Amino acid sequence: MAIELLSARQLREMRPAGAFVAEVLTSLVQHAAVGVDLLELDALAHEMIRARGATSCYIDYAPSFGRGPFGKVLCTSVNDAVLHGLPHPYRLRDGDLVSFDFAASLNGWVSDSAVSVAVGTPREEDLRLIEATEVALARAIAVARAGNKVGDLGAAIGATAREYGYAVNTQFGGHGVGRTMHGDPHISNNGRAGRGFALRPGLVIAIEPWLMAGTDQIRMDDDGWTIRSADGSRTAHSEHTVAITDGDPIVMTAR
Ligand code: MG
Ligand code: MG
Repeated sequence: MAIELLSARQLREMRPAGAFVAEVLTSLVQHAAVGVDLLELDALAHEMIRARGATSCYIDYAPSFGRGPFGKVLCTSVNDAVLHGLPHPYRLRDGDLVSFDFAASLNGWVSDSAVSVAVGTPREEDLRLIEATEVALARAIAVARAGNKVGDLGAAIGATAREYGYAVNTQFGGHGVGRTMHGDPHISNNGRAGRGFALRPGLVIAIEPWLMAGTDQIRMDDDGWTIRSADGSRTAHSEHTVAITDGDPIVMTAR
């Protein structure tokens, strides 16, 4: 495993990247309204990247599973789409549940964060699904402390999902973050408490619970990127970049 441990100084240097990613997501949430096109939201994020002199982690992203490069700076996953939603011409409709996942590099450091919101008139069951991902994320962050194990994070997420009555898919999860978007360790969304890599001061990780209302199975969209729930049920995703320290964890992408 290639694990980066950052000094206190490097963690301070990373803060602007986290603040920038948070700022972009806040702006996207403010702009996510009925009638707004996903491509307009991608353009908004792209303009903020240019204005700040940041670098997109997505636009040239071409992993083994994708039909890369991604070509956009933002993932927009609507309703049954849950991860890696490729922005396309689509105007948001009343009651849509949209997840924004955004990662960028600033001054050589990356941050990665995601948020899910209901557009217009929310459905009760969507708000509950979003809440489950947010509570799971908060509980994982609460145990993101030196001495605890990676498995403690996944255990917190998995237990929260089950408490809300949702199944967990473990094909995609959290990851180390540093000078690049995806590093070790992998953070499963259904770990076993007390197992796995020991969290150490200076470790920076993206923690990202994502849930589907009716299934733990996914399917790939025809665009080669967008991952949807296999049964068409609604989905949500919450993510923060978090630094482990000697004391309390630092949520780099806090909004
Ligand atoms: Mg992300
Ligand atoms: Mg991530």
